[in-house]
Amino acid sequence: EPQLSEEFQMLLTWADDERKLDVRANADNPEDAKKALEFGAAGIGLCRTEHMFMDATRIPIVQEMILAETYEEREEALKKLLPMQQEDFEGIFEAMQGNPVTIRLLDPPLHEFLPNKEELLVEVTKLQLSGSNPDELQEKEQLLRKVRQLHEFNPMLGHRGCRLGMVHPEIYMMQAKAIFYATANVKERGVDVKPEIMIPLVGHVNELKEMRELVMQAGLQVTEETGQQYDYSIGTMIEIPRAALTADQIAQEADFFSFGTNDLTQTTFGYSRDDAEGKFLQSYIQNKVLPENPFATLDQEGVGKLVEMGVNLGRQTKPALKAGICGEHGGEKSSIHFCHNVGLDYVSCSPYRIPLARLAAAQASIKSEQK
Ligand code: PEP
Ligand code: MG
Repeated sequence: EPQLSEEFQMLLTWADDERKLDVRANADNPEDAKKALEFGAAGIGLCRTEHMFMDATRIPIVQEMILAETYEEREEALKKLLPMQQEDFEGIFEAMQGNPVTIRLLDPPLHEFLPNKEELLVEVTKLQLSGSNPDELQEKEQLLRKVRQLHEFNPMLGHRGCRLGMVHPEIYMMQAKAIFYATANVKERGVDVKPEIMIPLVGHVNELKEMRELVMQAGLQVTEETGQQYDYSIGTMIEIPRAALTADQIAQEADFFSFGTNDLTQTTFGYSRDDAEGKFLQSYIQNKVLPENPFATLDQEGVGKLVEMGVNLGRQTKPALKAGICGEHGGEKSSIHFCHNVGLDYVSCSPYRIPLARLAAAQASIKSEQK
């Protein structure tokens, strides 16, 4: 367990007096949440809920949901997932002791929860040849059909983010209810929670409008059932250029913005975030086509311009709109300076990067005062 020395703690406290930016953590379990608080995080800026679905005991239920042929079957599987998600959120809320928590609804394409196609093919072929286990063969064949059905040539530009919630509102409904049940329960135990529910990959205001209505419906249903009142807010990731360009419209449906600069870098450059580094990006940097890796250091000329435009347009609509950044750049020094300069409210980064972010935010603040 890493410990910060007393001297370093003191330095960080001085830094905190100087900085304007809040520093939050990207965390999706109670352990990381505790670590975040130890390192001085002011809250969780990004809780990615997909990791909860990846858990070994849950993946069979998630697969059951994905394979479901009817709405009723899907509802059955989601009913089993709901208490598990609720437990996850309760753990995180309790660990965060009333500090703000931004929870992002499901983001990755559903094929990520299914086995790899090539491996499945091998297994199916083996089972067909041996003829020994017809039930398992049938099960694997069903999975393979689904994997093929979900195949996309560009999955990161495909059926993910809020597009999942639009087509399968029952998934987002389950997640929103789990958040509200957890809020109600934790409140009864004396922890004040005001969850911030975040919709990913929005590109058009109508997507956010629909998902916002869905979340509010879940809120009403849970209030009716539990008799508990609770406060919450609904915001959006800004990670598609169109969202930044139309941020004035999007702000009408959003209580907060969080810039997802990983996807925003991918979509602004048109570089695959999963492939570019292993293919041409190194040679680009070596040959000085690019000064540095834009996935590590925020590209201020392009991606940054969209961040600046997005926050300014959003605040034209809502002057007090809260805005932060939760991509990898939130834990990188020069990107943090940029976030300070364009007037973001917070950066969110991995728990271990929080001390660095606190220092960088203070430096940015001191530097801008000297000008
Ligand atoms: C992002 O896109 O910057 C982001 C924070 O979300 P993810 O990395 O999970 O896509
Ligand atoms: Mg993203």
